[in-house]
Amino acid sequence: MAAPRSTPHPLSHLFHPHHAASYVDTMRRGVDHLAEALGRVERRPASGVAPEQAAKPVADVDLDRPLHDVDATLEEMSRLYLDDAVWFHEPTYAAHLNCPVVIPALLAEVFVSGVNSSLDTFDQSVGGTFIERHLVDWTTARIGFGADADGIFTSGGTQSNLQALLLARDHALANGAAASTLRVVASADGHFSVQKAARLLGLGDTAVIAVPVDDRRRMDVTALGAALAALDAQGHHAMAVVATAGTTDFGAIDPLVEVAALARARGAWFHVDAAYGGGLLASPTRRDWLAGIEHADSVTVDFHKTWFQPVSSSALLVADGAHLGHVTWHADYLNPHDAADPNQVDKSIQTTRRFDALKLWLTLRIMGPDVIGGYVDDVVELATEVGALVRDRPAVELAAEPQLSTVVFRYRPPGVPVAVADRLAPLVRATLYARGAAMVAATKVDGHAWLKLTLLNPMATAADIIGIVDEVVAIGDSLLAAEVA
Ligand SMILES: *Cc1c(COP(=O)(O)O)cnc(C)c1O
Repeated sequence: MAAPRSTPHPLSHLFHPHHAASYVDTMRRGVDHLAEALGRVERRPASGVAPEQAAKPVADVDLDRPLHDVDATLEEMSRLYLDDAVWFHEPTYAAHLNCPVVIPALLAEVFVSGVNSSLDTFDQSVGGTFIERHLVDWTTARIGFGADADGIFTSGGTQSNLQALLLARDHALANGAAASTLRVVASADGHFSVQKAARLLGLGDTAVIAVPVDDRRRMDVTALGAALAALDAQGHHAMAVVATAGTTDFGAIDPLVEVAALARARGAWFHVDAAYGGGLLASPTRRDWLAGIEHADSVTVDFHKTWFQPVSSSALLVADGAHLGHVTWHADYLNPHDAADPNQVDKSIQTTRRFDALKLWLTLRIMGPDVIGGYVDDVVELATEVGALVRDRPAVELAAEPQLSTVVFRYRPPGVPVAVADRLAPLVRATLYARGAAMVAATKVDGHAWLKLTLLNPMATAADIIGIVDEVVAIGDSLLAAEVA
């Protein structure tokens, strides 16, 4: 039975000075519970639970019957969630672009949600507005933008790319381009959020032109030139050229200097999707891999990938802050025309917005950028080392030399036909997950099935990762033997 409103349960506390003791006690229990769970996770990034097994116990919870007890509820949550959670800090988690997170960012989360500032207006965030702005300025300086640069924190690369293309579209329309002629050019390996953005922006599914990639999976510059010329000849307007700095599968960095020059020559907005490769901005040794990014009109950086931040933390940075005016809308109750306050909502497609910037702030203030960039260097070097080891193993095939921190490979011993390798790849991945000892991703390259190791854990060793490859070979061998038998 629910407690009546007039007599709140002793645990029904708001974050309030009267309840500071309850706050501290509750948080400590939570932190202790999580630390204990962390201690139990050993060499097992996943439990291997199947969707139907995971769904039932959750569905069985009666939300109208609260437990009124913190520990009992944490125990229940463990059973429903933590016990089967996928742990990105485990060295044998090598599936998607998820990173282990740095402790200063977790410290910041206490304040992000505890104080619960909303970064839409100055009168809801005060110093938070300036912390976010200082981080934007710091990031744009690392990119090499000038004094007019600006930007905004977003929920992720998908939103950053959407906003970039929105600015590009409105810039083209403001310059007289006809809506029906607008096209977006990206490489065939560009992120699908570019397509999704084109759809959301009313450009249609055929508005994105895919430029072929070269033998290193980078946008082929000659093909880009031809694609832009063809658009011109058809009377279409290339409103944006999107280069990817770190493609999701191969970590390829498109030739930014050459792409920038071609985009500039056609008057196209040049967007760099550095959701993945953006961490190179902090690298003490590999910043030059992003040479040319300073020519961009806009850049997407995901701090929740190669900056080791908890989800969500991303930013859209623009060379000329005036373009952010395309998303400005004045509401009398919030950010009126005559407002003197610096209101971040004027630059964002969100209204209420988390103070995610504080996580990066505490990270930089406690650890400094060189440590973060050093982690990026570590995972790039790890991928190079693992790639070399995979190349030497006869039972596996390497799709391409690693570029950033992914290794695309598959089980295919000599003599095994491609069709069999295609069939085995997803089965190997599923078997690995079910065993729980390691996680890899599955992908397709030119229609063929491959496995992918995404290495974002600077604590993982080459031995850890080669252990996964050995496991893949063992599973492949037994699947193949079962097929033959
Ligand atoms: C991850 C990724 C995105 C999407 O970012 P989210 O933060 O997942 O929304 C966009 N582009 C590239 C290249 C990515 O790797």
